[in-house]
Formats: sequence, structure tokens, C-alpha cells
Amino acid sequence: MQTNLTSLIKDTHEGKEAEAILRSCVHCGFCLATCPTYQILNDELDSPRGRIYLMKEVLEGKIATQKTQLHLDRCLTCRGCETTCPSGVRYGKLIDICRKVVENQVTRNIQIKTIRYVLQKILPNPIFFTILLKIGQATKYLLPKRIQSSIPSRARNAGLWPPARHKRKMLALDGCVQPAIAPNINAATARILDRIGISLIKVKKENCCGAISYHLNAQQDGLNYMRHNIDAWWPYLDNSINNGVEGIVMTASGCGVTVKEYGNYLKYDEAYADKAAQVSDLTKDISEVLNNETEKLASLFYNTKSCTKESNLTFHSPCTLQHGLKIRGVVENILTIAGFNLILAQDDNICCGSAGTYSILQPQLSQQLLENKIKALTYKQPTQIVTANIGCLTHLQSSTPLIIKHWIEVLDEKLHSH
Ligand code: SF4
Ligand code: SF4
Repeated sequence: MQTNLTSLIKDTHEGKEAEAILRSCVHCGFCLATCPTYQILNDELDSPRGRIYLMKEVLEGKIATQKTQLHLDRCLTCRGCETTCPSGVRYGKLIDICRKVVENQVTRNIQIKTIRYVLQKILPNPIFFTILLKIGQATKYLLPKRIQSSIPSRARNAGLWPPARHKRKMLALDGCVQPAIAPNINAATARILDRIGISLIKVKKENCCGAISYHLNAQQDGLNYMRHNIDAWWPYLDNSINNGVEGIVMTASGCGVTVKEYGNYLKYDEAYADKAAQVSDLTKDISEVLNNETEKLASLFYNTKSCTKESNLTFHSPCTLQHGLKIRGVVENILTIAGFNLILAQDDNICCGSAGTYSILQPQLSQQLLENKIKALTYKQPTQIVTANIGCLTHLQSSTPLIIKHWIEVLDEKLHSH
């Protein structure tokens, strides 16, 4: 694609990156077939190719309008288009750059501005979020039905976190909302890792991965969360201290895809660029860690093979796992090794509509995607649905009586209930 970027952005780091991405698009339109918003709205401007045109116009100097902003807001940033694109267009990076430019040109109405501000301040703060969640749970039955269903029920007991007894160690990211909604996820991860000889360590001073703020166009706040986490992890990761910590384990793929890209987000920050790149290299989704230990897993689950209770399950692969981290088929392989009977869902490459704060900011599209997803997941009547990201878990749970869990929780249950 030919480009002629405005001189205001052309020679900036972001301008150069955007120009290279725009030039890699050959307009073929293959991406339209797998774009969730195009499937629903059937409007070219709500497709990846249409949005790329809009973003090109803005970067070439055309002033963005509210309509431009609406089409970009409707994008889930699911990155399904990146998986489909034969030319390797890095759409996610392009829309990150353009949303910031558009935000500076188009004023949002005060109500939307307030909602975005509140989300950006409350969600990344575990203390605020926990207080609000508890109030919501206590008053749930006074609220309208639609809001009731979106408030997660009280969390299951997390159970024991094994002491750090192994030579091999990894760090856990607690993140912002997961400890309040599902503390069992990281505790179950610690128990499974303990059984294969790795101790999982909690780090007290870490905070939100930065994704929520960054994707709400509060990029500086997002980058500050990232710097804060690097500072919290660095004493454990620094080779000179040599305390045996191998890396950082992600149990929410939404956080994982962000931390994996710290090196990219902070590459022009002299003080943090090297550390951020090393943190990204050392970050692993829990499925990647276990996939390197399949022999140990197989022997661990050898005696539980005959345990068929709740064994028929469907895995909902989050967009952040399959399109963002490009991890496909790995969780499915682990679940099969552990003796589960995996039921494949239809359209498993399509987003469930959770997408960070999308379910709050674009409720109609999000609900439509959720209905489609629940139908696809339950079509063959699994006894359980599991996923790999707290956002998807909560979103799916709001629409089905089936209990939705993280896949690591069912592994832990199978091991300990046998
Ligand atoms: S599939 Fe890729 S190259 Fe083709 S239009 Fe979409 S983004 Fe552009
Ligand atoms: S990120 Fe998802 S919603 Fe956005 S254009 Fe790509 S496929 Fe469509």
C-alpha cells in the first residue's frame, strides 16, 4: 500500500512503525472472513481492511471524525485478522498507534469520558476493585438482571499455596482483577508446578500488567505500570543475584500477551529497554511451561486416567492466547495428556466479546458475540467449559449456568480428587 504520512508523525518512532505496517497490507481482504465485527455488521469500515484505510487517512493528515473513532472503538483488538493475514500485517500495533492520534483529535462526550476514566482508575487497582466487587456481590439482587449476570459470584476458596521448596523457581503475576474473582487459579498453578518440581513465588510489589490503561488510551499510565512491574521482578531475575528464578508465569493470557510485549512497548525508554526485553523473554504462559514437562505430566496423571468424572470438556481459547501469543493446540495437548476428553467447539478462532473493557464500552456487539460463542461452545453438550483468561472466564460465566473454570483448575482438581 502506497503511503504519504503527514510530517507531524512521519519521522517519529511510531510514524515509522505505522508506515511499515501500512505498506505491508496488500488489500487482499482475506482478513474480512474472520473479523467478528465484520461478520456481525457487514460494513467494510468495521473490517480490518476498512479500518486500515481509515487509519491511513488519519496518519496522512485527514482529521479524524466521531465516525472514524466509532469504527476504531468497535474493533475488539482480538487480532484474529493477524492470524488470517497472509502478508503478516501487524494490525494490533497499528491500531494502538492510531487510537492515540484519534483520541487527540476527537472529543468524547462527557458520559463516555467518565466511564473510561473510572474503568481506567478502578480496574487496575486491586484494592478499589475488590471493594467494589464485594459491594456489587452484596447488593446484586437489587440490581437490574443484565447487571446482575455480569457480577461474578463469590470466589471459590483458593486452597493451599505450597512452600517454596524446590531449586527451580518461577514468579507468579497476580495482576489486578484475578485475585479478587478467582484466587484459585494461581494457587492451582502453584500446586501443579510444585508437583513437577517448580516452586511458584508471589511477588508483593507487582501491579496490573498495564494493558487496561494502555488500551483505554492512557498510554503513559500503562507504561508506568509496566516499569513498576519490571522494578518489582528485577531483583529476582537479575543473573548477578542468581537465586534460581527461571522466569515469570502468566495464568491470564490477556496479561501474558502484554508482558510478552514489554520489550516492544519500552524499546525507546533508555532506562528500561534492556530490562523490558529480558522480562519479555523470560515470560511464559503456564501452558508453555507445562508443555516442556509433558513426560512428568503424563506420569503425574497416569493413575487418574480412569477418573471420568467431569471429563468431557470444551476449551475456549482466548484471542490473546491464540492470536496474540500465537499459542495454539498446546492447552488442548496438555488436557489430553491429563486424560480429559476434549470436545472441539465451532468457530473457535472467533472472539467471545470480552476483550478487556469492550463488554462495558460496546455492550450490544459484545452480547451478540457472547451469545454466538456460548452456542458454539455448548453445541456438543460438554460437562465443563474451560478457558485461559480471567476476562473471558467472567464474560462467559455471565451467560451460562455451566461453571466456567481456568483449565489449570480442572487439572488441579483431577489430581487432588483422585
Ligand atoms: S489480509 Fe492482510 S494484507 Fe490482506 S487486506 Fe487484510 S490486513 Fe491487508
Ligand atoms: S482485531 Fe479483531 S475486531 Fe479488530 S479488525 Fe482485527 S479481527 Fe476485526
